[in-house]
Amino acid sequence: MKSYKMFIGGTWVDAVSGKTFPTVNPATEEEIGQAALGGPEDVDKAVKAANDALPGWSRMVQSERSRIMSRMGAAIRKYAEEFVDLEVREHGTPIMMAKGFAAAGADNADYTMALSRALMGQVFPSLAYVKSYLQRVPIGVCAVITPWNVPLMMMIDMVAAPLVTGNPVVLKPASVNSLLGVKFAEMMETLGLPPGVFNLVTGPGGSAGVALAAHPGVDLIRFTGSSETGKEIMRAAAATTKKVIMELGGNNPVIVCEDADVVAAATQQAQRHFGNTAQNCSTPGRYYVHEKLYDRFVDIFAEQVKKIVVGDPADEKTAMGPMANKQQMKKVEYYIESAIKEGARIVCGGKRAAEKGYFLQPTVIADVTHDMTVAREEIFGPAAAILKFSSEEEVIRLANDSEYGLVAGVWTKDMAKALRFTEELRVDSVYINMPRTMATEMTWGGNVKESGVGKSGNMCGLEEFTDLKMVCINYAP
Ligand code: NAD
Repeated sequence: MKSYKMFIGGTWVDAVSGKTFPTVNPATEEEIGQAALGGPEDVDKAVKAANDALPGWSRMVQSERSRIMSRMGAAIRKYAEEFVDLEVREHGTPIMMAKGFAAAGADNADYTMALSRALMGQVFPSLAYVKSYLQRVPIGVCAVITPWNVPLMMMIDMVAAPLVTGNPVVLKPASVNSLLGVKFAEMMETLGLPPGVFNLVTGPGGSAGVALAAHPGVDLIRFTGSSETGKEIMRAAAATTKKVIMELGGNNPVIVCEDADVVAAATQQAQRHFGNTAQNCSTPGRYYVHEKLYDRFVDIFAEQVKKIVVGDPADEKTAMGPMANKQQMKKVEYYIESAIKEGARIVCGGKRAAEKGYFLQPTVIADVTHDMTVAREEIFGPAAAILKFSSEEEVIRLANDSEYGLVAGVWTKDMAKALRFTEELRVDSVYINMPRTMATEMTWGGNVKESGVGKSGNMCGLEEFTDLKMVCINYAP
């Protein structure tokens, strides 16, 4: 089986240990290739290379840095076919969706680079012959630790912003997506960046990730993943007070009010729920449906779900592929069993969808109550939990009763009620009468409860990777 190297200081290298590890096709359970098993010594080399590149990259005029980085969008388009192939084989993303991710990722890169030219400092009003200003500067070497759930998009988004703002990057992709990480590094090599500005270390979170998070030569950590890992990284980062920017877990409520268009709500939410095998931080974790609409909502939702085509991700007709890895599939099976044990009702699905590969049936769980495990924890897989409520006050209390605060949905024809919900719900974003959708220009993530630290996207997302240095100059004659 072919083995792949890491990209450190502008060259392709094996792990210092010489060891490798396999990545697996989740649809067939067959090995795809071997990635270098990066550990603390490799992380050390990559962080040193990034620090060596820091003075040149951070002091480059923004227009020049943006010009170099603006090659990224075109390079992603050039590599799109290879990226799509690996997304399908290494992550199980249905091919039509993988094509969409590659196109959206290229658009994200184009937008980020164009926007970066508008970054500005500020000038203070000052005394005569005194000039005081805030100069926008990069923060330093940035460790980027990405999750497995939307691998290519996450790498693009999480690498583009720190790089264009002047922070050399050491990327560690989720270990199950290591070959996609290698392909991403091959694409980055074509941009003509100075050596050490972009580095790739492959390896497990428990060794390579930990070493990166704790490394004193890293100034800033950009992490997306679970809230538990986020807390571990924060603890590691505390040793040298690194800045952290984190997008973490969610258990997102969607509220269907008594006056909602129940057909639209159930149909649209069901059609959207199982995209990417429901392995999204934004996937609704709890549907709270008013008691008067409850049975209809469950029926319509389940009818839609039964139409979802599950199968080979390489087939253009497939809407839902396998889960990305075995561990996650086992976790979702545990959640489904816990729901049955705790008294919920499986309306459809609930079982493996194939003998080989990590395929689960899209599952609808009704009669869930707020205290059940499936309502309290992030399922992160193809099972939708539907609960019942009777009053606005009650549902706001229940929706907010979670350690997460990522995204919420509300379905109602009463706009005054919708606005009340947008104010009462403690989440980073709210969608009214529509499932969650994203455009390149929108922001994502935030600082609500355990769902994250810092903002992604648009200008505020770029600003997160910069500091404002205050300078005062006396130029009296
Ligand atoms: P994870 O936390 O298990 O892993 C994420 C990354 O961290 C991987 O690269 C992993 O190797 C690394 N890692 C693991 N332990 C580490 C440690 N101790 N130190 C340093 N690095 C470590 O998350 P996951 O399972 O890959 O992703 C799923 C989670 O990500 C879900 O909770 C989901 O909600 C969240 N997520 C959030 C967003 C968002 O925008 N809020 C987006 C995508 C995913």
